[in-house]
Amino acid sequence: MSNSTSKVPTIEEEYNGAPPRLQDEATAVRDRLAANRTLPARYTRRRGLQPPPGMTAEAFLAAIAELRAELKGGDDLIQINDDAIDLVDGWYLDKPASTHDAFHVADPENLASSAVIFPRSTEDVQAIVRWANRHTSSSADGKTRGVPLYPISMGRNLGYGGAAPRVAGSVVLDLGRNMHQILSLDGGNASCVVEPGVTYFALYEAVERLNEKNKDTQTPLWIDTPDLGGGSVLGNAVDRGVGYTPYGDHFGNHCGMEIVLPDGSLLRTGMGALPGPDGTDNPAWQSFQHSFGPAVHGLFSQSSLGIVVKMGFHLMPAPPAHQSYCLTFPREDDFAAIVEVIRPLAQQGVLGNIPQLRHVVQELNVTGQSRETFRTKGGSGPLSAEEVHAAAAKLPLGDCSWVFYGTQYGPTQEALQNQLADIYKKFADAIPGTRLVLPEDVPADHYLHSRALVCAGVPVLRELDWLNWVPNGAHLFFSPIAPTRGEDARALHALIADLHKKYQYDLFPTLCVAGREMHYIANIVYDRSDADAKRRAIQLMREMIAACAARGFGEYRTHLLFADQVARTYSWGGQALLKLHETIKDALDPQGVLAPGRNGVWPAAYRGEGWELGVDDVDLNVIGPKKK
Ligand code: ADP
Repeated sequence: MSNSTSKVPTIEEEYNGAPPRLQDEATAVRDRLAANRTLPARYTRRRGLQPPPGMTAEAFLAAIAELRAELKGGDDLIQINDDAIDLVDGWYLDKPASTHDAFHVADPENLASSAVIFPRSTEDVQAIVRWANRHTSSSADGKTRGVPLYPISMGRNLGYGGAAPRVAGSVVLDLGRNMHQILSLDGGNASCVVEPGVTYFALYEAVERLNEKNKDTQTPLWIDTPDLGGGSVLGNAVDRGVGYTPYGDHFGNHCGMEIVLPDGSLLRTGMGALPGPDGTDNPAWQSFQHSFGPAVHGLFSQSSLGIVVKMGFHLMPAPPAHQSYCLTFPREDDFAAIVEVIRPLAQQGVLGNIPQLRHVVQELNVTGQSRETFRTKGGSGPLSAEEVHAAAAKLPLGDCSWVFYGTQYGPTQEALQNQLADIYKKFADAIPGTRLVLPEDVPADHYLHSRALVCAGVPVLRELDWLNWVPNGAHLFFSPIAPTRGEDARALHALIADLHKKYQYDLFPTLCVAGREMHYIANIVYDRSDADAKRRAIQLMREMIAACAARGFGEYRTHLLFADQVARTYSWGGQALLKLHETIKDALDPQGVLAPGRNGVWPAAYRGEGWELGVDDVDLNVIGPKKK
């Protein structure tokens, strides 16, 4: 556990540490968060060891003892989450505790795992999966189930469930701790192959070293990073996360995977399915995403069909010049018009990346200060519009309602200045009062500088500052997809805003707007110590999912506890999609050993027992099967 007297370890000291360039910043961020915490640093377990459902603690411990002997790895490879292991929320860059969801939206023990295993190799992963299939138990309905395993890479996708399994008592496979090698970095092909524990920070450092080595012979390469750099490159891609350079579609820019299937066998996707000469890897594995016959790689994203142990990615040759900027718009009502201007610019490829459109309230929270700093009118709950605008007026961008963060890439600075002038004109012609702001116009600590780094593939930590908005801050993301059209944008935003008001939450909309669709990301920031706030957050999520689905807006990704509800909103054709997912799941994983319930897909060994959580499930403190 971290304490405020020590420095955050660097990536050279620990695989999951901070890059040296960010060590001081990381330490300061951690200490600010700790100062804002009133909850105890650790909780002792009230429920003791929670074995997998249907297994006694004795049977489970006997099975673990057998695995320990088989793995021959000593005590370090398996942690049993019994009374001796407290639940520690920690913070973003701690070694993932891998015991529960650190951003618990209900009782921290309701998503607690029974044990954590730290495999060292693909062979270990295969052995663990075979072991899970061997140790069966019976469900209440007499169905045969194996030990449920839940693979994570870094466990840092906080806001979507972190390191927690959907079924309490599952065994978490923490792949990152012992499997964090960059297996290949190919400057010529502009690609890499990574293991699950390679973070954006680690990949960035390695690519920078390669760039330095090849500086006289090759164009430097960029990675693409999401808003925070501590996550796993592989984990984020399989969860279909995004970044902000032209390579921002992480799964779209992968090339080749090696996967342990639910029966313990191995699969390579793409050209890797064709062996290379003399036992080598296929030379085109990181060059062509497909193989021959039906494409299967998509089956392993947001899925419970395999454990990805190696994954290839394309790297972007750095453009000669790039320029980040923001545009501000004065009125709340400008929102639909902004989206209308973005659509053709994005479709025509005029915009260099997927820009972010943020409400100005996020100028406040990204300063890392608490909501109370900005409150002038007394009371509690969300800030009023007047308070937000009054506070924004004192910040570097001044008062406005929406802020567009974009980046252009091109051959020369001069070309970029011309592009920027065109883009500005398109917005200014449609929206009176549009202002263009460049990095040199704002102080060094303004968010635009951090955005400029992320949009040039440099991983940072800045977005953690949001969490200081309330004490014991945690967040949940609500992330529906809508067409890039003003009328849809307006309808979606109104719906989300009304429900935030109903449940007394500040609304933090960030939109990633592409030419034809946009991801609307609403970040619900709550106090982990406040049971009422957590309950309201759950109600808000449930109602937003239902109300948005009724208008045709569906989420691209969600927290574990809302996945059943979201999966069931994709109901076209009598739930045809979910039925296919279940058919495939049952064929590949008949005993339901891999991540049961992940993304709303329950294996046959669990279906019909009432594991699913729906719109009415607001009390999530104890979850488990309830016969319907
Ligand atoms: P992050 O990169 O943000 O730390 P995680 O490691 O938590 O992300 O991964 C995000 C989610 O993706 C996990 O909850 C898990 O369900 C899934 N996942 C992560 N790594 C793997 C993997 N190697 N194989 C299969 N699924 C994985």
